[in-house]
Amino acid sequence: MVKDFEAKLNEYAHLLVEVGMNVQPGQTPRISAPVDAAPLVRLCVAACYDRGAREVLVDWTDGFVSRQWYLHGDEETFSKAPPHQKAKLDWMLEIEAPSLSITGSDPEMMKGVDPNRIQAWQRTAGEFSRPYFDAMTANQFQWIVGAYPTQAWAEKVFPDQRGEAAVDALWNAIFAVCRITGDGEGVKRWNAHVENVKRRAKLLNDYKFKTLHYVNGMGTDLTIRLPENHIWIGAGETTSTGVNFVANMPTEEIFTAPCWDGVDGRVYASMPLSLNGNLVKDFYMDFEKGKIADVHASEGEEYLRKSIAIDEGSSYLGEVALVPYDSPIRNTGILFYNTLFDENASCHLAFGSAYPTCVKGGQELDAEGQKSIGLNQSINHVDFMVGTADLSIVGTTLDGTQIPVFRDGNFAF
Ligand code: ZN
Ligand code: ZN
Repeated sequence: MVKDFEAKLNEYAHLLVEVGMNVQPGQTPRISAPVDAAPLVRLCVAACYDRGAREVLVDWTDGFVSRQWYLHGDEETFSKAPPHQKAKLDWMLEIEAPSLSITGSDPEMMKGVDPNRIQAWQRTAGEFSRPYFDAMTANQFQWIVGAYPTQAWAEKVFPDQRGEAAVDALWNAIFAVCRITGDGEGVKRWNAHVENVKRRAKLLNDYKFKTLHYVNGMGTDLTIRLPENHIWIGAGETTSTGVNFVANMPTEEIFTAPCWDGVDGRVYASMPLSLNGNLVKDFYMDFEKGKIADVHASEGEEYLRKSIAIDEGSSYLGEVALVPYDSPIRNTGILFYNTLFDENASCHLAFGSAYPTCVKGGQELDAEGQKSIGLNQSINHVDFMVGTADLSIVGTTLDGTQIPVFRDGNFAF
């Protein structure tokens, strides 16, 4: 039993819709969620209409159904774009439908599935959904990712507990890191947190670093060049039409884009990665002039290799994000096996696409133009964690001054 569950779930729904999506009157928000998440989705739908939504669209997903398709579906269905899905996304782009996506499926849902099928569908879906997702990551409209614990996910996170007990334990953790207590003040607490993170992002922006150098005891020794006019973004963004929103909930990160061709050295992952329903463990990557030249993993290496080979940009970095080791999520001591949570517990990097909002003027450029100012282009975007308790990051400014950014895993300022 979770204490005050109904009140907390309601507070979470309001947080997602009011602070996260910040639905505006007349908008047509689209919610995509696993069928397990119906209780939360219903509250969100009601909250959207309360805010004056024109119509709320819900797309249900189901891990079991997806897995059956990956295992038994006809080969052709992975490489041929379904016209109705493409038409829907094109229409959603036309009306600039804000997106709320609820995650929470089994982190190992696709265990044993042929990696070629996963890669084929990623290419196909990436292709036809690209216009919508490009507009989304360029912040043409609001978007947000939240979570709902399915039993399979909860039992992975809490292997000593089964069924409802595991789900309750995961709910308690999610409510805690989202600063939800059930007292109805969640929105207020969030707004204060958002202001805090934004203050630190401003400090980073004022330094205008040319490079960041990462070192830790695992063996990480990585230099990342940052684009001229890069922008550090934290806890909240603004659409091109001026609507504030928070893309991830919870969120602790402050992120920007690296120069796609400016990464050199080796970086060790500090946590396992759940990659499209498969776990990749104990891995490192070697970079040469930005390109991932080699990877090694103790488990799931073939899935990692397939993912960085989806397209040219998949083997280059698109995001660099700073998260203090002493963060509310990491302090729970829980490994969530879900990027939404784990990436906010640790400094991370992402291979694949960069957010065009991370460089001044990036949104106004086409793909070619974005690439020329350092922003990586790909249909892929995969975050992986690199933060440790002993991580040190030193920034070098344009005039060569060295400034400690991270010391012993936490912000040095
Ligand atoms: Zn991130
Ligand atoms: Zn990311």
